[in-house]
Amino acid sequence: MQLTITKSELLKPKPDNSKLGFGTIFTDHMFNMDYNPDNGWYNPRIEPYTPILMDPATTVLHYGQAVFEGLKAYKTDSGAVRLFRPKDNFKRLNRSCRMLCIPEFDENFVFDAMKQLIVLEKDWIPGAPETSLYIRPTVIATDNFLGVCASHTYRFFIILSPVGAYYAEGFNPVKIWVTKNHVRAVRGGIGEAKAAGNYAASLYAGEEAHKNGYTQVLWLDGVHQKYIEEVGSMNIFFVIDDELVTPMLNGSILPGITRDSVIIMAKKWDIKVSERLISIDDLIDAHDSEKLQEVFGSGTAAVISPVGEMKYGDRVINIGGGKVGPVAKRLYQAITDIQYGRAEDTMGWIEEV
Ligand SMILES: *Cc1c(COP(=O)(O)O)cnc(C)c1O
Repeated sequence: MQLTITKSELLKPKPDNSKLGFGTIFTDHMFNMDYNPDNGWYNPRIEPYTPILMDPATTVLHYGQAVFEGLKAYKTDSGAVRLFRPKDNFKRLNRSCRMLCIPEFDENFVFDAMKQLIVLEKDWIPGAPETSLYIRPTVIATDNFLGVCASHTYRFFIILSPVGAYYAEGFNPVKIWVTKNHVRAVRGGIGEAKAAGNYAASLYAGEEAHKNGYTQVLWLDGVHQKYIEEVGSMNIFFVIDDELVTPMLNGSILPGITRDSVIIMAKKWDIKVSERLISIDDLIDAHDSEKLQEVFGSGTAAVISPVGEMKYGDRVINIGGGKVGPVAKRLYQAITDIQYGRAEDTMGWIEEV
């Protein structure tokens, strides 16, 4: 397969790097590749960023057969460009593809094409602190057919977006809402795939949280509505009695790359780590007996997001007196130091572009 590159004749103005939000600005070019049963994945190309023209009957619009990834390119002080565990994103994307009956792609080929796209768009990578170039690989079903079955044709695309902090709060504690009324995913479903449908399923509870003044939803398991799962765009961690606790991967939780990095780092620092079932009642008990020291989320977008308040039913739990805890702070510092090249990468996590 040969990658073709068509450059845009008209380049967009670059944004003010000190005012970047999340996911509103896109670069000049994108990667595209198509699939049909005769050719497999074919016609890989980097070309000007363009809207996708679709028939109203396109499968993805009706049945949500879509998977995606999220990773970032970071600029170091010396101007080098770094990716954090990017191969893991493509491995996970192929896994998500399998779960949604989407044909798998050649991870090395697409990884290489993505790097070429980033090189072409390197002037779009912001250099201000905490900023980065967000990378969104996506695969969508493109058959024009209203029957319910896996599509026969697909489009793979990658778009790039210069971003600042994910939460308006920045690295300050967020408030999360534990929903009693809704579930995001159940084991046997597609909760562990990075699939568009999981986000559709999360919106209603998200609105409920927002209406009540909370930033994000903490999901409980779909069967008992009892065991803590994740935050919907982040995995969740607790420091209880000096132990770092996170729900074990159970088939409905997204296996986060940041989650895995946090676990590896903490173990390296000789912090006791436990991946296990943890119920919301256990968590409230830990809080009431003053053993709950920290709560934070982990994910590519925010890296580490401290949680300062949780609400479950009538109970409001305050954590850490509105301050960021030492474990969250240390993890945030260590991971972002590696990402931005301020610290040596002793883990083999970095790929330079
Ligand atoms: C992407 C995502 C995460 C975080 O995964 P990272 O690989 O750490 O970015 C957590 N939960 C859900 C549901 C996600 O989609």
